[in-house]
Amino acid sequence: MSLKQLAPDQFAELAQRTRAQYEELKARNLNLDLTRGKPSSEQLDFSNALLSLPGTGDYTDNTGADVRNYGNLAGIADIRELWAEALGIDPAHLIAGDSSSLNIMFDLISYAYIWGTNDSPKPWKDEEKVKWICPVPGYDRHFSITEHFGFEMVQVPMTPQGPDMDAVEELVKDPQIKGMWTVPIYGNPTGISFAPEVVDKLAAMDTAAEDFRIVWDNAYAIHTLTDAQADNPDVIALADKHGHPNRFWYMSSSSKITHAGSGVAFFASSKDNLAWYTSHASIRGIGPNKENQLAHARLLGDVQGLHDLMQKHASSLAPKFDAVIAILRERLGAYDVAEWTEPKGGYFISLDVTDGSATRVWELAKEAGIALTKAGASFPHGVDETDTNIRLAPSLPPLEEVRTAMDGVATCVLLACVEATENNAG
Ligand code: PLP
Repeated sequence: MSLKQLAPDQFAELAQRTRAQYEELKARNLNLDLTRGKPSSEQLDFSNALLSLPGTGDYTDNTGADVRNYGNLAGIADIRELWAEALGIDPAHLIAGDSSSLNIMFDLISYAYIWGTNDSPKPWKDEEKVKWICPVPGYDRHFSITEHFGFEMVQVPMTPQGPDMDAVEELVKDPQIKGMWTVPIYGNPTGISFAPEVVDKLAAMDTAAEDFRIVWDNAYAIHTLTDAQADNPDVIALADKHGHPNRFWYMSSSSKITHAGSGVAFFASSKDNLAWYTSHASIRGIGPNKENQLAHARLLGDVQGLHDLMQKHASSLAPKFDAVIAILRERLGAYDVAEWTEPKGGYFISLDVTDGSATRVWELAKEAGIALTKAGASFPHGVDETDTNIRLAPSLPPLEEVRTAMDGVATCVLLACVEATENNAG
């Protein structure tokens, strides 16, 4: 029921109760943080064995090469084979790098900007304008990269199946549209996994720009919260089948699997794209941190070891997600003031409140000592035109804190909507 539909005395009672709850909330002097999708210390502890790996005595990868020395820009076979099997792609198409996939994404765009891709008629810096498709809500750090290069970011709404493909197919008729961000599985911040039809269209569609690229940022590829797992399509093979072999720049990393910031990042693509990437990356550096790659290969053992570790994460994260959703349902379910995603994996819940209220919710929460990701953060330039969206990240705080913070957030959502209804009536 919308607050507008409440009888005046019912509305007055709700307004009074919500204001009292908010005053109580403020009086608790909380200091809680639901801002960034970082693993908790409990989750980091699952991989503490990394700190003493690869161990002493045997420093060689499975080809016999000494990982302590320079070289091997593509990364060691041990971890590439394991990771490629987990993602269902050909290890020959996968490079293992240093710890950050975001660094590789930044490099890819930099190289394309300065020199052009292997399919570009000219460097992107020499294009009159570069436009980039940004499904919204999306990952703020993606948008920061394209903003940094001065690309025009064109928003496309996310649907429960993935980006609105009618809009995407229309946009790619423009030769200035050079690429697109995606987080295809358990996405940031919606938790949505792209439906097979959407994936197929992305691989098959014709684009006016011959150097059009999709950043397939599969950061949450295997990050299930249940005992089932979303399928990971082999988009490199799919695009090849559709005659667009160089379409995807496929990213992955162990950041939210082992130790964030000290993991291994991966880049997968067609042979030609990898050769292009390597032609620049081999000037940028000699090779990645192979000791860390060997440490990861030894920690995980095999794909089953990787999935066993993901189940430990699920057992830590799922109760937090369940708590957020239970509180939203219980506190807000009766009123038509908010909608939220109920993800089966990933790190985030996307909360949409009544139009024009998200910033107010954020302010109220801040005053009550609950830090939320800034309203609008999941949109290019940090601007959500309708001021509705808030990204909730429940992974970092302990479960009890998640409960306290979310109960407080629910109070702030109700209060913001009460205020908006009063303002509209006045
Ligand atoms: N991509 C997405 C969609 C993310 O949500 C994150 C971290 O939150 C990253 C990439 C960062 O990855 P990395 O640690 O490999 O740089």
